[in-house]
Amino acid sequence: MPLRLTPLLQKRLTPRAQAMIESSLAYFPELDGKSITVGYTRKHLGSATVVYRKGIISQLVIRLKVRKLSYQTIGHELTHLVQGLAGGDRRAASPVRGEHIPSGEKQCDIWTLARDKIFCDDAPTYIRMPRVMRERWPAYAETVRDLCIAAIEKRKSHRLYIRWLEAEIRRLPQRPPEKISPEQLELPFGQG
Ligand SMILES: [Zn+2]
Repeated sequence: MPLRLTPLLQKRLTPRAQAMIESSLAYFPELDGKSITVGYTRKHLGSATVVYRKGIISQLVIRLKVRKLSYQTIGHELTHLVQGLAGGDRRAASPVRGEHIPSGEKQCDIWTLARDKIFCDDAPTYIRMPRVMRERWPAYAETVRDLCIAAIEKRKSHRLYIRWLEAEIRRLPQRPPEKISPEQLELPFGQG
């Protein structure tokens, strides 16, 4: 996949960060064969731009802050590109996965986490969640991802699926974060 790195990014890019960007792209078949420019930003975690010329996509750009780079951030910005593709280029083939990703930051977080576990290495920025969950994110990551997948399913019949998702997430700290098997739950009541 053609990947263009801006000179400013090249100066800062570590081999590890480059490998992270390349392996992230493998999870985005919608971007297959598209030329993507990757630049550097110091202001935000990242940004994404889809440039149109005469109604046709002429450039896909993401910018990343290399320090503390996470798959979450890379995935978020690539999801923005997919959102952008859905928005305009009438000549573009419809996305591989069938359904368009709706625009919006929270939507971007939801579809990024749902896409693959690899993008759950850091807490999402825009989905609202209790602070304790951000502090102990690894303990909650898998459950939040499952909820995001459920929310995408729920969207088909439920207009307020993001509200539903955030309400479910808000309740999580009230439950023990570690997955507890039924046997463990029964322990205090067992015959032992
Ligand atoms: Zn964003």
